[in-house]
Amino acid sequence: MDTQRKYPKTYSIEFFPPKTTAGAEKLRHTREQLAELRPAYISVTFGAGGSTQAGTLETVCEIQQAGIAAAPHLSCVGSTREQLRQILDTYRQRGIRRIVALRGDMPSGMHSMGELRYANELVEFIRAETGDHFKIEVAAYPEFHPQAPDASTDLANFKRKVEAGADSAITQYFYNPDAYFRFVDDCERLGLDLPIVPGIMPITNYKQLARFSDACGAEIPRWIRKRLEDFADDIDGLRAFGYEVTLELCRSLLEGGAPGLHFYSMNQVDPTRRLWRELGLGNSD
Ligand code: FAD
Repeated sequence: MDTQRKYPKTYSIEFFPPKTTAGAEKLRHTREQLAELRPAYISVTFGAGGSTQAGTLETVCEIQQAGIAAAPHLSCVGSTREQLRQILDTYRQRGIRRIVALRGDMPSGMHSMGELRYANELVEFIRAETGDHFKIEVAAYPEFHPQAPDASTDLANFKRKVEAGADSAITQYFYNPDAYFRFVDDCERLGLDLPIVPGIMPITNYKQLARFSDACGAEIPRWIRKRLEDFADDIDGLRAFGYEVTLELCRSLLEGGAPGLHFYSMNQVDPTRRLWRELGLGNSD
């Protein structure tokens, strides 16, 4: 873990693009309140295959205009090089300096895989097209990607993204800090020298969290799952327990040397703001 301590701490927040006008208005309000925390940047997810792509651009432009650094996610699955080139050009023209580069997942009903197969190829493409213009973040999986045949292959594939030119990584969420510490140790052994920032998913809704976790391979430890199940319709009880669990997780990660935290806000103000303030987080600019 020691290499991680040398990096400046980066605290950031993630949004997803709104689907409706009412959602856009609500997100504006969320952004105004979370901007007070002075995140290093706000990232905005991107739906492979066109579902939310215009929304990503609109949302990052609004964030930038409000004076906060915005980082669009960009996934390559289902896209041609030309389409990706155009998106990168647009972001460059809008003054965007950071991108979260992903393979993404094929949406159901979409059949063309696109011209780039994996995130390492996208990172290579972004570097070839735009040099050092963008700071490139990539995804990391302390509990391993669900499609990886085994842990060491997944690590070797993570290494490809770093060698292709990634500057730093954001992890999939997890609730077992040892998974993160061991992943970081493995990366260190492979000679990978980059900040690996834990992704934090506040716990506010058990059914939604269980669904996400099944899909993305993030484990909810049995003791947490069992307790969350017990709360049933007691939303306040569930949120209070979820808050304590996530707060402890953040504390142990930071004490263990994590170089920041990236909050999956789910476009909600309170869960992220409460953790942020309790932890006394602050970016050094
Ligand atoms: P990759 O790094 O390409 O890995 C995908 C799989 O392929 C892994 O199993 C890996 O081991 C394997 N692999 C990688 N490279 C190679 C290679 N060269 N040869 C053979 N096998 C290889 N999804 C979205 O749709 N939109 C988003 O905005 C979004 N944001 C995310 C942000 C973060 C921080 C994280 C952690 C995930 C995000 N995702 C998003 C989900 C992500 O798209 C999925 O997890 C996807 O399945 C993998 O994307 P990746 O970039 O990690 O893929």
